[in-house]
Amino acid sequence: MTFYFSCAIKQLVRLNGIFFDYFRPAIWHIMTEQKIISYTLDLEHDYAGIAPSETYESFIQTEALNKFADIARRYELKITVFATGKVIEQKKDIIEFFKKLDAEIELHGYHHIMYHPDLALEAQKGAEAYRKYFGKNPKGYRSPGGVISPVLLKALAAEGIHYDSSLIPSFRWGVYKNLKSPTLPFRDPETSILEMPVAVVPKIRIPVAASYIRLLGLSVYKRMFALFGTTSPLIYLFHLVDLVETKMRRQLSPFWRCIYAKGQKKGLEVFEDSVRHFKYLGYKSEFMGTLYKIYSPQPEASPEKKLSHP
Ligand SMILES: [Zn+2]
Repeated sequence: MTFYFSCAIKQLVRLNGIFFDYFRPAIWHIMTEQKIISYTLDLEHDYAGIAPSETYESFIQTEALNKFADIARRYELKITVFATGKVIEQKKDIIEFFKKLDAEIELHGYHHIMYHPDLALEAQKGAEAYRKYFGKNPKGYRSPGGVISPVLLKALAAEGIHYDSSLIPSFRWGVYKNLKSPTLPFRDPETSILEMPVAVVPKIRIPVAASYIRLLGLSVYKRMFALFGTTSPLIYLFHLVDLVETKMRRQLSPFWRCIYAKGQKKGLEVFEDSVRHFKYLGYKSEFMGTLYKIYSPQPEASPEKKLSHP
């Protein structure tokens, strides 16, 4: 199915190639505007939810991690890491690695069980582990699998968490159906939690995430951006397994093995090319914490000036 989907996208952009060339000057103008991108890394056991057991192989690939750090420094990326409580408790080396990289570290549940029956408990347990390590409340949260609910949002507010970035306004078979959800930040009216959705390509709502880019190809994404534009802010999602190869991949089901096989040796290269392209499109990298401030009302601001997209 993925194969046909990929072919359909490629055909779509090929047919529109003439359009792209013809309107290149207009597209160039759009590309030169200043926009904001947040690079968000979900830090969890490799292949969370789809592997038969937990592994943290990607955490110990020093050479690849150092290459990633070089890219992050060279392009002045402000990385926001959403780490599970379990990783914070048990894998201190990787947390310290990201701290040295001046990354901002926020929370990604505790166990990272994709369909946990008690989402609120995951948040509470994760926040406990976070406080123990960092001595403060997490400000941001991303729910494992992008699954959110009113109960979870209430739990986040109770833990002193200010924003959530779980919503993927797209469709994934059996996981989420969010094709009518907002694609830009908005506040939950009940809890005032600011929801900052993961980026999708406007109109066609394909997630802007490293795994999808690796699967479909950056050239396809470049054409989609030229045709449908991009959002600002653009919240880009990636995992360490999108960047490095792991032996654990062999234990995945044939479907997922196939998905992760595409460009497996080129993860870092595709990531760097993507970063370069976003720079070319006029994006500036900012932390999620900075975005939260941008989208939060200032005391002196009048209600009409509040930046929110209900
Ligand atoms: Zn995750």
